[in-house]
Amino acid sequence: MSNKLFAPELFRPPMDFPDISYDQLLRKAAENNPDRIAIIYHNLSFTYRETVSMVNSIANGLYELGLRKGDHICLFTANRPEYTITFIAAASIGVVVSPMNPSYKEREVSYQLSNSEAKAILIQSELVPTLSLALSQKEFPNLQHIIVTGTRKPETLPNAIPFSQLLRQSSPKAPPHVDIVGDDLLALPYSSGTTGLPKGTMLTHRNLVSNNLQFTNAQGIDPSDAALLFLPFYHIYGVMLTGSFLACGGTQIMMERFDLLESLELCEKHKVTYYFAVPPIILGLANAPIDLGKMKSVKFIFSGAAPMPTDPARRLQEKIPGCVMQGYGLTEASPLTHSQPRDTSLIRLDSVGLPTHNTECKIVDIETGTRELPQGEQGELIIRGPQVMKGYWHAPEATAQALRDGWLYTGDVAYVDEDGYTYIVDRKKEMIKYNGFGVAPAEIEALLLEHPAILDTAVIGVPDDEAGELIKGIVVKKPGKSITEEEVLNFANGKLAGYKQLHFVEFIDAIPKTASGKILRRELQEREKARLRGQ
Ligand code: AMP
Repeated sequence: MSNKLFAPELFRPPMDFPDISYDQLLRKAAENNPDRIAIIYHNLSFTYRETVSMVNSIANGLYELGLRKGDHICLFTANRPEYTITFIAAASIGVVVSPMNPSYKEREVSYQLSNSEAKAILIQSELVPTLSLALSQKEFPNLQHIIVTGTRKPETLPNAIPFSQLLRQSSPKAPPHVDIVGDDLLALPYSSGTTGLPKGTMLTHRNLVSNNLQFTNAQGIDPSDAALLFLPFYHIYGVMLTGSFLACGGTQIMMERFDLLESLELCEKHKVTYYFAVPPIILGLANAPIDLGKMKSVKFIFSGAAPMPTDPARRLQEKIPGCVMQGYGLTEASPLTHSQPRDTSLIRLDSVGLPTHNTECKIVDIETGTRELPQGEQGELIIRGPQVMKGYWHAPEATAQALRDGWLYTGDVAYVDEDGYTYIVDRKKEMIKYNGFGVAPAEIEALLLEHPAILDTAVIGVPDDEAGELIKGIVVKKPGKSITEEEVLNFANGKLAGYKQLHFVEFIDAIPKTASGKILRRELQEREKARLRGQ
């Protein structure tokens, strides 16, 4: 039933965002709550005071190494304190952070290191072999400093600096003052955007400061809250979570990877109030033949990054006292643009909720993107707000395509109902979502084309109940050459991070294309859907 009281502006009044550098959010929270626990990781815990000291030491250490405002540093680690501390340390001195997926293979590391022009990298010690391989295959003229987690220099990287040495030898006092304005770059996470290869998404201090505050205010997160963080910090969803919980003075419990039973133990042990998930985890929790009594303290299970399946979400909702809800966003919007109202009676499981504070949205026609559509009609969702990126790094054409007249074209198809709730119904952009991870088909296609027996190829997502989508390679063989599905899988998957790996391959005679040579992905996807329906 329609109820005009549901007008979005009633829930999300405009806010004033401070014009400060990103690290100031943590520093403020630490002033207010110096002795509160900020980070828990295995059996270690750090108060806010200790966290700020470590941030200062690393900021001073980076500065002494010669890193200056505008330089770039890649973070190549799983979820652990060193990641978050280095992120905020870099922010304190104007250094720009480019997070990297710890499951990357050398080809992917090489691409991001050189494309981002990183001058330094923080790397988890277990990942050193991958970096060493990348370094042995290619020159990285910008790369000057390698910082490795732990206390020891790896044998293969004699010039690397152990993180603990940097921490110990540098002053925990505030780092040198650097003039940082809101418009200065802070982060460069990689996203495929609407089309093409992964691109550095230029997010500024203003973008992330605003988005942290938009998120914590919209959801009512405060210093008494504790979040379980297993979603990867290299992805923008993880960047937002680890940053926001420090910004609001709450506690975060870091997990390097998801493990259902361990996550329940940690919920009980640390009285977790926020459990952040992606749709496959919602499905896993809903289907798990176990009692979820250990989630007693959890107020919210928040799903994002891909469409949340409604039936499992309903079943999960019946199993726990807290509330299941979903939000929506994208790397290009730092990421959050929509979430459910704080008032739990107003949550709608099948919707991504309402625009967050200071976020304007329109639904426009899919073909031209210029005509605004009336409420209820489906079209492309476009967004304007302080969290929207500055553009793509070194990619002016892609930037012009994504940002038009200050509006971000999301590449998602949506509609808004009469109460102002938004529903995402389709994705018009090329990106494939596997378990919530964005995969750029163009990257896998470029790799497949390197095989001597492959003439042409298209990579598409195929709907799947568990993963959201599986990844399919459609391949045209070169005349006179032979290659099997297994050979294609071995060739590609040996060079790709786990979440980008092909699940199956189909051989066809020709890839359908437009007159200008663009792959007709829709046609391939529709064919796939028809096949799944058994037509
Ligand atoms: P990423 O940049 O990896 O965060 O991917 C962003 C994309 O994920 C969006 O443009 C959507 O296509 C998809 N996405 C994120 N959250 C949701 C959601 N709640 N429902 C549907 N799609 C989503």
